[in-house]
Amino acid sequence: MPPNSSRPDLSVLFITSEVHPLNKTGGLGDVSAALPVALQQLGVDVRLLIPGYPQVLAELKHKRKVTELGDLAQFPPAVLLSARLPVSTSASVPIYIIDCPGLYRRKGGPYTDAAGHDWPDNALRFGLLAKIGAILASDASPLAWRPQVVHCNDWQSGLTPAYLYFHRGTKAASLMAVHNLAFQGVFPPGSVTQLGLPAASFDINGVEYHGKMSFLKAGLYYADHIVSVSPTYAREIQTAPLGFGLQGLLAGRREHLSGIVNGIDSVEWDPATDPCLARNYTANRLAAKAANKRALQQALGLMVDPDILLFGAVSRFTHQKGYDLLLQVAPQLTRIPAQLVILGSGEAALEQQLTLLAKTHPGKIAVRIGFDETLSHLIEAGVDSFLMPSRFEPCGLNQMYSQHYGTPPLVHATGGLLDTVVDCTPATLADGSASGFLFHTMTPGNFLAAIRRVTSAYHDKPTWRRLQKNGMAKDFSWRTSAAAYREIYLSLLSRPSKQARAKPATSKRQRKM
Ligand code: ADP
Repeated sequence: MPPNSSRPDLSVLFITSEVHPLNKTGGLGDVSAALPVALQQLGVDVRLLIPGYPQVLAELKHKRKVTELGDLAQFPPAVLLSARLPVSTSASVPIYIIDCPGLYRRKGGPYTDAAGHDWPDNALRFGLLAKIGAILASDASPLAWRPQVVHCNDWQSGLTPAYLYFHRGTKAASLMAVHNLAFQGVFPPGSVTQLGLPAASFDINGVEYHGKMSFLKAGLYYADHIVSVSPTYAREIQTAPLGFGLQGLLAGRREHLSGIVNGIDSVEWDPATDPCLARNYTANRLAAKAANKRALQQALGLMVDPDILLFGAVSRFTHQKGYDLLLQVAPQLTRIPAQLVILGSGEAALEQQLTLLAKTHPGKIAVRIGFDETLSHLIEAGVDSFLMPSRFEPCGLNQMYSQHYGTPPLVHATGGLLDTVVDCTPATLADGSASGFLFHTMTPGNFLAAIRRVTSAYHDKPTWRRLQKNGMAKDFSWRTSAAAYREIYLSLLSRPSKQARAKPATSKRQRKM
């Protein structure tokens, strides 16, 4: 029940393929942990649904069997469990877990095996997640609890709106959140009927994408509303190249497409209390930040120097993140002089080139390959400036973490980076909004020019302090964003569904089924 009885009751099923701290490969894991808590604080009854990967089953204590899900024609039998996800000392979120040993209980990542290859049965694995999400969100649910809105995240739950669209009984309204349009969940056309969708849905007005089936397109086409994770990204995906072939569909649905910037979990990410740091600090005790720089330089074998400008980056190594550009400018960077620390993993070629870069510049550049939550926090606190030369960035979290940690970021002006970082100029310094540095075109020359701007600001101590304090004073909490999601949920309850709004042509197609 909402804490404030003047608010209407609102129940939401939040379907996700990852949630911190159970499993996380990127930003979705952070969002799935923090947004539901912020929604709870607004009185929304939100519950998560996630596959029962081994880590999820091992980490969640006090699981309870809710029901068997044995007669799902296309899928192996599964059991629905429930538990509570501990998100802080004072809050927990109800979570449903799909225990289907044949599909989820295996070593490796959520989407790939240990060698990085996609699981060959991903269509079935995430088809099951989406199918059970649709069941729980309709009058076919075995639960007494019924959500009014189902909030899907990325391609892994993209089929839920499609299943709901074709369900003839009562059902929840559906929202499709796009965290990254580059990942689409594309499978052979035969998957459509294998997963129990009508053959007629394999259509340009449906799940078809360049002769294959796309889970993400299904969500974008059938959902009642679409949210992308920043206003700029919501505009960018309506045009090529960032629409990845879906720009026409998205532009056609622009009245049902919003951009809401992500927040950050300000309990997990608080420099005043963060246990991963060598020393905690606040905007009023910024001198203490230096102990983290020293700890980082020592831990990674860099020359210990409190005055040298230390850049940092933490990321997946993919073409999206612009590490090729970083590789091109890194040698010049060491001559500025500056140091660089990089943490991440991903494409083998980038891992090799970055490792070689560090070997060529010992003491000046350090690279750690792998996923290391603790080190990522120390980097945010210990470096002077955080680099994000992403080609595109739907929202991005690290630029917000770094501003919150008094570490002004240098970012490419795209997507959520443009929406959350204010470029340092005389005007923005004067009005107190400057919080980092932007560069507008992805060329080594532009990136280097921006690095030089960082350098001169860094050596102008009053300017640097102002940048740090401006960033730390910004409100990156989930409060505002969660309120925006809540408004959309409420608007969906009073709007005709996508199905009710379907054009006559679609109805004709349905009659043919
Ligand atoms: P994306 O979701 O595209 O990967 P985001 O910036 O939205 O990018 O979120 C990435 C999240 O994952 C951040 O919390 C970041 O610190 C974390 N992360 C990425 N790579 C690593 C890594 N190698 N070690 C620790 N954390 C990482």
